[in-house]
Amino acid sequence: MSQQAVTRLDKRMLIGGSWVDGDDRTDVIHPYDGERVGSVPMASDAQVAEAIDAAEAAFEASELSAYERYELLSATARAVEDRADEIARILTSEQGKPLADARGEVDRAVQTLDLSAEQAKRMFGEYVPMDAQRGFAKDHCFTQREPLGVVAAITPFNFPLNLMVHKVGPALAAGNSVVGKPASNTPLTSVALFECLETAADAVDASVPDGLFNLVTGSGSTVGDAILAHDAVEAISFTGSTAVGKYLANNSGMTELTLELGGNDPTIVWRDTDIEAAAAQVVGGACSNAGQVCNSVERVLVPEDIEDDVVEALVDAAEALTVGDPFEAGTDVGSMVDDDQFGDVVDLFEATVEAGATVECGGDYGGDLGPRTFEPTVLSGVTPDMPAAKEETFGPLVPVITVEDFEEAIAEANNTEYGLEAGLFTQDIDRAKRAADEIDAGGVNINTVSGFRADHMPYGGFKDSGVGKEGIKYAVEHFSRSKLVGFHQGFNA
Ligand code: NAP
Repeated sequence: MSQQAVTRLDKRMLIGGSWVDGDDRTDVIHPYDGERVGSVPMASDAQVAEAIDAAEAAFEASELSAYERYELLSATARAVEDRADEIARILTSEQGKPLADARGEVDRAVQTLDLSAEQAKRMFGEYVPMDAQRGFAKDHCFTQREPLGVVAAITPFNFPLNLMVHKVGPALAAGNSVVGKPASNTPLTSVALFECLETAADAVDASVPDGLFNLVTGSGSTVGDAILAHDAVEAISFTGSTAVGKYLANNSGMTELTLELGGNDPTIVWRDTDIEAAAAQVVGGACSNAGQVCNSVERVLVPEDIEDDVVEALVDAAEALTVGDPFEAGTDVGSMVDDDQFGDVVDLFEATVEAGATVECGGDYGGDLGPRTFEPTVLSGVTPDMPAAKEETFGPLVPVITVEDFEEAIAEANNTEYGLEAGLFTQDIDRAKRAADEIDAGGVNINTVSGFRADHMPYGGFKDSGVGKEGIKYAVEHFSRSKLVGFHQGFNA
């Protein structure tokens, strides 16, 4: 087994300030070698309801000012920083990404917490100039932002720490209480995060009520249905598959909903760019985290006349990557999270080759590479109807699709039910502006890949990629509401 993987992390759930067990438990497995990392409880629906009740009571009891929320989140950032190496090892142990990438995720999570802490101090309303309408010249109105109450935060496996922070940080910054639910195969980094929240709550002077932050683990459908059934949940923030997102949308009634869902992101490499430099970014964007990234490069669109040059550069970049044990220094591509995820990518790859695509490099998977490991694989001759082009590929595939002109590139970029992000490499400002205007996605990135994300920028897709935005300031807006306060002249006159 991988010598550095964490073992024996048998943890509990945090409900109302106490770490509690469940009737059943589920094991957490190191994806690279299948060894047991630890386990967490399977929450019953009654325990989820208990966590929501505790969160509701804590929300009612909390008197934390904006400054005190800032202090709590800053202290949490420092607690995560203090445990950074340990948390990175837990992350790689349960998720399978290279340790260097796990360290990068922990560093981002610390920054996301610090950004959230700062945002707690920026819950601004606005003055409404009432004299803009005839007859209201003597009135004064302003808006103030208020928290919603209990926020449920449901996260996927691929960035288990930073995506949980993206919800918990802004939700607490805005003055809410939280019930977190991590993915079943990667719950242990969230446990560590909530331990850090506890450390921080003990360290700050302010009184943080038990139950302000709760963590439940176990089956997504059990927890999800218990969340949907409880009236006290005011907002659900979900990151995960489009199928589950649609289920929540169809069953959440008047609850505020943020959905960060799947993608099939295009990146266009145009003639007027540095092909080698662009190809290196494209391969990085397609193969990072073994391709298990919502906005990874899923389709590379290139003009026919430069296809050979682009494919050659992509192959060079893909072959330079090292595949293997995520704990080995120098590994670029680790393991997929589990057999289902791995099996889906194998099926999609085989079906695409069967349909006529050419394997330019890679194409090996499993066996000596590691049971759930897939080589970075460049595919040429891919057409829009092939599986790797049509579906979200959560694996390190780089499918190249040729287009005749820029018009077709834009049309092809939009030829998907998803609309998360897109990338374009070009030196032509008019082409760049046209892509920005015409590509139907939540983000259009010029001279980088679709996979670009900084944690404070607005982030969220169109179409089947979701509704609402994350990015600290934008998440705080979703987790708070605007109340109008009016002062009217004449009553006491
Ligand atoms: P998933 O299967 O949808 O699971 C995501 C979370 O939802 C997990 O915690 C899961 O719990 C839970 N869940 C499952 N069924 C549920 C239900 N009925 N009600 C409520 N929650 C439920 O997604 P995944 O496979 O972990 O993640 C991959 C997907 O996430 C991809 O489609 C990817 O594109 C997307 N993603 C999007 C973004 C973005 O920002 N747009 C970012 C990252 C990932 P269990 O683990 O217990 O099943």
